[in-house]
Amino acid sequence: MKNCVIVGINWGDEGKGRMVDLLTEDFDLVVRYQGGGNAGHTVVNEKGKFALHLLPSGILRPGVVNLLGPGVALDAENLLTEVEDLRSRGVEITPDNLKISDRASLLLPWHRDLDALEEQRLAEKKYGSTKQGIAPFYSDKYQKKTLLAGELRYPEELRAHLRDLLEWKNLTLTGVYGAEAYTMERLDAWLRSYGEKLLPFLCDAGELLSVAQKGGKHILFEAQLGALRDLDYGIYPYTTSSNTLAAYAPIGAGLPSLRLTEVLGVVKAYSTCVGEGPFVSEMFGDEADRLREAGAEYGAKTGRARRVGALDLVATRYGVEVQAATKLALTKLDVLSYMERIPVCVKYRVGDRETERFPFPTELAAAQPVTEYAEGWGCDISGVRRWEDLPRAARDYVRRIEDAVNCPIAYVSVGAERGSIILR
Ligand code: GDP
Ligand code: MG
Repeated sequence: MKNCVIVGINWGDEGKGRMVDLLTEDFDLVVRYQGGGNAGHTVVNEKGKFALHLLPSGILRPGVVNLLGPGVALDAENLLTEVEDLRSRGVEITPDNLKISDRASLLLPWHRDLDALEEQRLAEKKYGSTKQGIAPFYSDKYQKKTLLAGELRYPEELRAHLRDLLEWKNLTLTGVYGAEAYTMERLDAWLRSYGEKLLPFLCDAGELLSVAQKGGKHILFEAQLGALRDLDYGIYPYTTSSNTLAAYAPIGAGLPSLRLTEVLGVVKAYSTCVGEGPFVSEMFGDEADRLREAGAEYGAKTGRARRVGALDLVATRYGVEVQAATKLALTKLDVLSYMERIPVCVKYRVGDRETERFPFPTELAAAQPVTEYAEGWGCDISGVRRWEDLPRAARDYVRRIEDAVNCPIAYVSVGAERGSIILR
């Protein structure tokens, strides 16, 4: 597993953080390659419970070097708050174990404002944004209207660049949304409080990764969200604004020439989805409340109640395909222990036809689930550590998923703690 990427197969919150935390033991470097402070990766280990947003989950292992690649939305405010929070809990974070690509673009204060202003304008048609400025940030990046972190090394040029951006951005803030204009004084204060504090962490990510690779180091890439939120291959427009797919990892990390040796896809034993958008196997009412409670499905970043549903084999198969997963981790199997019979969405009904293929986004809104039921196991499995000790019905459930999506399940997770895992 020299160069391994850990990705979400579904809508996100599959338990990627817990898998990264488990596997970092075998890796020298952990890299985040897309997304920003809107992520919420929960890790429970001997140090306690942590919700990580921008920091790679390897930050909790001494000796692991953590990198934020050029593909991330570099949100200095969120990042520095997170660093301080972890430091206060005894986690050591220094320029030795945290590195930031100088080619990462800076999420600027107005990105957060614009995110909130646009959701407000959309009202009941809102996307369900986490309001961390991600969509406005990536739009600006592709319009070439933000700053690279490395520009912080050239204060004079940076201020001139920022002044131009300010003039342009105020047109939108005031003219389109009727919001208050930004001033250079405010941006200077932001640079002093946040921007400049990133300087000691900046590096040439390409060089770092290339030297690590030549030195035989093991590199782990950590994705945010899941396949169905990928900008190009997900449930557009209810996607995120970056590419969550494994294939993007080398580019977003800083070394486009790097080849991945392993793609570990994380699948949850049932479905959850945060925010708006189509969710074919969604449950409602008491059935949903029970599953939400059993799985403690509340957002790590926002505390929002997550939408829950049956395992969706149509979406999961598609997720495995677009991620090109070489193996899978199935998480939260313990949560289903209370169910007498377990619903599984095996096909969609779209209009008058049934399909096993994940449809075009426009068709998703009206798609109906075709549900079958798997046998429950009726006992607590959270203490099980060996495959052969799982009840037969639980093993059957795992094998059924494996067969349906055509990819081996190498890990079965039965609890949030680092050790609550079954290796097959
Ligand atoms: P991520 O965004 O993919 O890293 O996932 P999140 O951390 O947002 O959501 C997964 C949640 O499930 C977290 O609260 C984890 O602590 C928890 N979790 C992970 N694996 C398991 C498991 O196997 N069983 C249970 N009960 N909880 C788990
Ligand atoms: Mg999450």
